[in-house]
Amino acid sequence: MAETIFAKILRGEIPCHRVYEDDHVLAFLDIFPLSRGHTLVIPKEPAATLDQLSDDAAAALGRVLPRICRAVLKVSGATAFNVLQNNGALAHQAVFHVHFHVIPRFDVDGAGAGLGVGWGAGKLGDDGAALAQAIAAAIA
Ligand code: AMP
Repeated sequence: MAETIFAKILRGEIPCHRVYEDDHVLAFLDIFPLSRGHTLVIPKEPAATLDQLSDDAAAALGRVLPRICRAVLKVSGATAFNVLQNNGALAHQAVFHVHFHVIPRFDVDGAGAGLGVGWGAGKLGDDGAALAQAIAAAIA
């Protein structure tokens, strides 16, 4: 895996505003927050994208994510939030070390404030059953 800024943060070579740490997970404030309290939660395991993460590291992340979300909500005062997880440049991933964004949402969201989500939904086609079956069969 290529060297990333998050690897440097994990090694303590670059400072961060840490909010949580255990043997497998580190969480810290995003340096360019989309809203107050925007927090990044990362595994210590060096995987670039979520599909490359081990079951153990994923379990450690999953165990602590809701607790971090609750803390971010409590301190930010938000009652809504997005958990965003980008994989690959096409999906707007800039740092190639797995990370979950916890982004509090406020009523003031708008141009230049907070997260904008475009949701260009289509309609599931006639191949839905075959598609589900294919994905199910591919789960290792
Ligand atoms: P992504 O587009 O999902 O890869 O998001 C990467 C995030 O990392 C962005 O929101 C950046 O603001 C954030 N980021 C980059 N460098 C740092 C840093 N040194 N400390 C905290 N957050 C960072």
